[in-house]
Amino acid sequence: MTDRFDALVIGGGVAGSTAAILLAAAGWNVALVEKRAFPRRKVCGECIAAPNLALLDALGVGDEFRALAGPPLERVGLYAGDDELHAKLPRLRDGAPYGRALGRERLDTLLLARAQELGAAVYQPWSVVDAARRDGDHVCTLATNRAGESATVTAAVLIDAHGSWEPSPMAGMRTRAETRGSDLFAFKANFLRARLEPGLLPVLAFDGGYGGMVLGGGGQITIACCVRRDALRGARADAAGGSAGAAVEDLLRRCAGVRRALDGAERVGTWLSVGPIRPGRRAIWNERGGFAVGNAAGEAHPILGEGISMAMQGAFLLCARLEQRRDELLSGSRQDGVARLYERDWRRAFAARIRWAALFAALAMRPASRALLPVLKAWPALLTAGAIVGGKAHAAPVTSLSTCKRASVRLEPESRAKVPSAPAAQR
Ligand SMILES: Cc1cc2nc3c(=O)[nH]c(=O)nc-3n(C[C@H](O)[C@H](O)[C@H](O)COP(=O)(O)OP(=O)(O)OC[C@H]3O[C@@H](n4cnc5c(N)ncnc54)[C@H](O)[C@@H]3O)c2cc1C
Repeated sequence: MTDRFDALVIGGGVAGSTAAILLAAAGWNVALVEKRAFPRRKVCGECIAAPNLALLDALGVGDEFRALAGPPLERVGLYAGDDELHAKLPRLRDGAPYGRALGRERLDTLLLARAQELGAAVYQPWSVVDAARRDGDHVCTLATNRAGESATVTAAVLIDAHGSWEPSPMAGMRTRAETRGSDLFAFKANFLRARLEPGLLPVLAFDGGYGGMVLGGGGQITIACCVRRDALRGARADAAGGSAGAAVEDLLRRCAGVRRALDGAERVGTWLSVGPIRPGRRAIWNERGGFAVGNAAGEAHPILGEGISMAMQGAFLLCARLEQRRDELLSGSRQDGVARLYERDWRRAFAARIRWAALFAALAMRPASRALLPVLKAWPALLTAGAIVGGKAHAAPVTSLSTCKRASVRLEPESRAKVPSAPAAQR
C-alpha cells in the first residue's frame, strides 16, 4: 500500500505526538508512526515543568493531565550521601505556578490518543526503517515486527521525533558509536508505599551519576538516574553478579534520603534501562531526514528534568514555522528556509539549557563538588536559582500556532541565519 500525507511524524513520544496534534488541529493531513504498542513504560524522571501545563491545555489534554498527575512540585532537594538540603522551586509567574509528575505510560498515551482524535493516522506498532527524497516528497518505508509486513508512505514534510536512544530510522545513516567510560546509562523504577514528601523533588548526587525522585499519579514514586559506564561497571562488580537494576539501586541507596524513602516500599515492575545516552545538540534538519524535534534535535542532561519541555516546546516552535510556510511546503518548495528559522528559534529557546544542564551534571557526578555543599546549605536559594537558569520559571516560547506571526517578527532576516546542514548520520 502507499498512502500520501501532508506530514509524516516518526515517533509517538511527547515531541512526535505534540507535533501531530498541532498540525492535525491546523488542518494538515498527518500520519504518525510509532514502533511500540502503548501504553508503555519509559525511562524518564516524569516531571513535567510548569511552563508545559499551558501547552497541555492548548493541546486539549490539560484537564486529563491534572486529574492523573501527582501533586504540584513546590520544593527541590539535594541528596548527596548523608547530606540533605531543601529549597523552594521558582514559581512560574503566568499560568500554573508549579510542575507535576505523570508516568510516561499515561502521558504519551494521552497525547497520542488526542492526535488520533484530531484525525492523525496512527501506524502502531510500525517502525520507519528508511526514508528517501523523491520528486519533492519524502518516501518512507515502514515495517512491523511481523516478518515480511511493510508499507510505503509519502509526505511533503517529514518530522523526525524518534528520540535519541535508538538508531536513526534512516538506513545507511546508522552509526555505531565507540564506547567511552563517560557514556551514561539511564535507569528508572517505580515504587508504591515509598516515603517521599508530596511536592518535594529531590535531586540525587553520587559519584559517577545523578538522579531524581518524585511522587507521580496514583501514589507511585518514580526514581530515575544516569550512571557513567565506569561507575556502573564498579557497582555491578560490588553487586557480585546481580542485575544492573539491583546494582543501581545499591548505588542510589548510598543517599540517606533514598534509603528512607524506599524503606518498606514495593517496586512496581522491573528496573528499565537505556543507553548510552549522549546529551548535546544534533542536526535540526537535513534534506533526507526532514526536521528533527525533541531528543532527535538535541538533549539536555536529564539532571534538570527539561527534556519533555524541550520536546513539547520544540514541537510548538517547529509547527509554528511549518504553518507559516504551509502553502510553499505542501507544494514541494525547498525546506531549508524554514529550517533556518526553526534552527534559530530552537537555539534561542534551548541552547542555554543544554549548557547549564551539562554544568550541573558535571558538578553532581564529581566527588570534589561535595566541597560546595556547605555553601549550598548556607544559601539554599542557590538551588532555586539553579532551577531558574535551568528553565523552570520561563514561560514556553510559543503557546499556540497563532503566535507564530509574532515569533517571526522577533527574528533576524533569514539571510543572517546559517543553514543547518550536518547529516543525521553524524548524530
Ligand atoms: C534518566 C532520565 C530522566 C529524565 N527525567 C526527565 C524529567 O523528569 N522531566 C523531563 O522533562 N525530561 C526528563 N528526561 C528526558 C525525557 O525523557 C526526554 O527528553 C523525552 O522523552 C524526549 O521526548 P521525545 O519525544 O523526543 O523522544 P522519546 O520520548 O524517546 O520518544 C521517541 C519515540 O519514537 C519511537 N521510535 C523510535 N524509533 C522509531 C522508528 N524508527 N519508527 C517509529 N517510531 C520510533 C520510540 O518508540 C518512542 O516512543 C529524562 C531522561 C532520562 C534519561
